[in-house]
Amino acid sequence: MDRRQFLYLSGGLITIASCKKSDREVKSRPNFPIHIDSNSATGHLVKSAVQLPVTTTLTTETLVVGGGISGMAAACSLSSNDFIVCELNSSLGGTSSALSINNVFYSQGAHYEHTYLHNYGYEGLELLKKLDVIKFNSYTNLWNFVDQQHLVPSHQEEACYVHGEMKSSVLLNSELRKNFFDLIRSFRGKLPLPSTLISSELHYLDQITFFEYLDKYLPIDNTFINAIDYQMLDDYGGTTKQISALAGIHYYTCRPYYTNKNIKTFSPTEGNYYFINKMKNYVPSSNIHCNHLVFELKRENEKWQADILDTKNGVRKKVVSNTVIYAGQKHALQYINPTSFHQFNDISYTPWVVINIMLTDDIALPNSKWQNDFISTDTTFLGFSDSKIQNPKNDRVLTAYYCFPDMHHYSVQNLETSYDSIVHETIKKMSAYYKKDISRAVREVFIKLLGHAMPIPQPGYLTKPRNLLIDDLAFAGADTGRLPLLFDALDSGIQAAKTVSNI
Ligand SMILES: Cc1cc2nc3c(=O)[nH]c(=O)nc-3n(C[C@H](O)[C@H](O)[C@H](O)COP(=O)(O)OP(=O)(O)OC[C@H]3O[C@@H](n4cnc5c(N)ncnc54)[C@H](O)[C@@H]3O)c2cc1C
Repeated sequence: MDRRQFLYLSGGLITIASCKKSDREVKSRPNFPIHIDSNSATGHLVKSAVQLPVTTTLTTETLVVGGGISGMAAACSLSSNDFIVCELNSSLGGTSSALSINNVFYSQGAHYEHTYLHNYGYEGLELLKKLDVIKFNSYTNLWNFVDQQHLVPSHQEEACYVHGEMKSSVLLNSELRKNFFDLIRSFRGKLPLPSTLISSELHYLDQITFFEYLDKYLPIDNTFINAIDYQMLDDYGGTTKQISALAGIHYYTCRPYYTNKNIKTFSPTEGNYYFINKMKNYVPSSNIHCNHLVFELKRENEKWQADILDTKNGVRKKVVSNTVIYAGQKHALQYINPTSFHQFNDISYTPWVVINIMLTDDIALPNSKWQNDFISTDTTFLGFSDSKIQNPKNDRVLTAYYCFPDMHHYSVQNLETSYDSIVHETIKKMSAYYKKDISRAVREVFIKLLGHAMPIPQPGYLTKPRNLLIDDLAFAGADTGRLPLLFDALDSGIQAAKTVSNI
């Protein structure tokens, strides 16, 4: 196997080096430095890892592979403290990770949540309550966030640049928009999170695409579909022609912020790394091993044997455990545990690129919003957020999001070396948005390439039966037939922990 390829496929292309300052390649540009993560050094390490002698063997009850939302939720939910979390990056978070600049953390992936409804899954809500993230409001019947300072003021929430014109939101006011919300009204309250709670009576919606559904009931036009596509790409990494009607309708009904003014947007500067931090503080630090890449999982003598590369020290280790929770991206199972891969080989992932642009203090950007959407001919660019709205005291960082079509993994990989134009184009788009050249105010740029970042909820994906426990190996993660949302990933970890705890 080409180990460098393996690293890319494991989704760790970028993340491997993202938190290791020493690995970050700093390229000087005329006006500002650009930091880009590179996996090449670690790639070479892995290549030689199989020839290395095993230096340490650890034994534990449960090995958790992956320290994203699902792996950490599993760690918080295991019934015993006898477990080890191995995370290949030097810090936790996966697609909910954050970048530290001058001791302030800025989101480099998932960056918001909404107030939770009372009919959401009990176990996820309990975990978040235990972590002091949410508390119940019996007056509104909603679970509110404890740290209210991270709620986005509604007047600063969103604006949208649509082919050169500023609008207040992506979905423009129109008769079609009204008809659309009338059409899906009957599903309100029926599509909770986690998505596993969706009644089987609605599973027929998983058989067709969202586009087919909309086309059947509404006189859709290009402007409308472009706007819906934008929102689907933003949350699900796929367009209306790719995702199922079940996923699409779920998007507009499970978090009814369009219709309920008590549903707030929660977005700390560090994004959903906030949740990771809460879980990290709950789990004993000695149980967490960052810079630990699990590259093989084998069943021997009724035990699991994990072959691990400690990427920081360049040594090979073994973990022997009774049970395993695999919360890494599933496509890498073809190398790590090929016998279980067939369960997940139908999943398509979209790669994402997140670009944090740090500005000088002196630039005024009037009317900037927390979320600055951008609909143009470049359908891969999904706008940017402004940290000044989240916390005016910190350095100003504009964070741009790109979602590439699922077959474009390799062009994302090329960005490792050819990133000038995406940085230039991003600054140009932001300047167009503000009608002001911001390039002189750029101090530093950080690029994070996320390989297999988001499983696309295509028709069949959400309702396909998968065996999530094989020989004491349990699977967790958004890509276990869940929606790519925090609450679904969280719940998948809780369920995996319950499963292995009851074995
Ligand atoms: C750009 C972007 C923006 C998003 N925005 C939002 C949002 O605003 N709100 C929301 O609810 N959701 C959002 N999502 C989705 C959300 O991030 C995910 O649903 C959730 O964080 C997924 O968590 P996970 O644990 O399933 O997987 P991941 O985050 O992918 O975590 C998997 C972890 O496993 C590690 N790993 C993989 N293989 C190995 C191995 N072999 N050995 C050791 N470790 C390994 C990885 O390094 C990673 O840390 C966003 C996703 C992306 C990509």
